[in-house]
Amino acid sequence: MKKDITDFKVRDQKVIVRCDLNVPIKDGNILDDTRIKACTETIEHLIGSNAKVIILSHLGRVKEEKDKENNSLRPVANRLSELINRPVKFVPYTRGIEVETAINSMKPKDVVMLENTRFEDLDGNKESGNDSELAQYWASLGDIFINDAFGTIHRSHASNVGIANILPSGIGFLVKNEVDKISSALNNPSRPLVVMLGGAKVSDKIGVIENAVKIADYVLIGGGMPYTFYKALGYNVGLSIVDDSSLDFCRKIYSEYKNKIVLPEDIVVATSLSEAANTRITTYANIGNNEIGIDLGMQTLSRYKTILMNANTIIWNGPVGMFEIAKFSKGTRKVVEILSNSKAKIVVGGGDTISALNKFGFNNSRAHISTGGGASLEMLEGKELPGLKVISEK
Ligand code: ADP
Ligand code: MG
Repeated sequence: MKKDITDFKVRDQKVIVRCDLNVPIKDGNILDDTRIKACTETIEHLIGSNAKVIILSHLGRVKEEKDKENNSLRPVANRLSELINRPVKFVPYTRGIEVETAINSMKPKDVVMLENTRFEDLDGNKESGNDSELAQYWASLGDIFINDAFGTIHRSHASNVGIANILPSGIGFLVKNEVDKISSALNNPSRPLVVMLGGAKVSDKIGVIENAVKIADYVLIGGGMPYTFYKALGYNVGLSIVDDSSLDFCRKIYSEYKNKIVLPEDIVVATSLSEAANTRITTYANIGNNEIGIDLGMQTLSRYKTILMNANTIIWNGPVGMFEIAKFSKGTRKVVEILSNSKAKIVVGGGDTISALNKFGFNNSRAHISTGGGASLEMLEGKELPGLKVISEK
């Protein structure tokens, strides 16, 4: 069992908290503050326990000097301050005398936020490359390290793995909740367990199937994922998306797990990706050369519905159609409706999948909506998360 925030005496201690405050910002305005809200529980707990709170986070990608302009955490510090109703001192540096002075003058309950950890990537990829000198420097600023950034827990960076290697470390409330909910769905599911995979990042998700067939009773394949299977099985998939490097894998796993892997029988195909496109419903065996498979057909939806309604645990990652275009959104909308009415234990991950939940009015307060698409996928793949592995054991 990993140590968590409640296992530490944090009074008067300098606690470095790695948060995932990677929110969308346009012209200095925060478009969605869900991630900032999600980490307030941990921060408020530390303030309530009289700790000195030092916050680290990344924001976007910083590859060249000009990326700094649009990726400063300053607006995030301001928003956090509003949410927790106390000052958050923002230091616009990731190291140096200003950082050290601000931290040395902290009193219990004070909150300091440093600038975007990825500014360090400009000087030799130090954050993302887990540079040991940088990790050592950041660790020297505090007494205890708490990782509450689930969104990057599958990465080995200086601000999560590096610091945790040096300081006594634990996980925050957000990470604990994510890991507990996802692990229990994976390792101790109430059956039947159904894993539903869709979306467009086919090569990223195909590896998940390998573990999913071992733990799940059914693996439903939708979105852009079925076409690699169809192609592998010898059918024409027209212009649908395919991961050519996974053809052998798909052929093999499908022949071994035919009884678990459910591929769509009928699909919506179109000759272009627009609202004005001509569409038709066809079986997988009759896709035309210039057609793209983009949504699930009615017959398939009704089969998926039966399987989902029978499930006691459902894990979903990836929209089952191009839901952003109304014409191709029927399948995803239907899935959201089925999951809204489901009594199963539900875990949903993936940025676009969560957009679909919001768009179609998902209404199921017991469902766990993960803040980390990549991290939840890696758990689903059965991989160990580097940011979690390095945390001290109880
Ligand atoms: P997530 O962000 O939830 O992990 P992905 O990024 O893998 O999901 O994929 C989301 C995208 O997949 C959506 O923008 C959707 O339009 C697209 N998509 C869904 N079905 C198809 C399809 N049949 N072909 C191509 N793209 C698809
Ligand atoms: Mg996505």
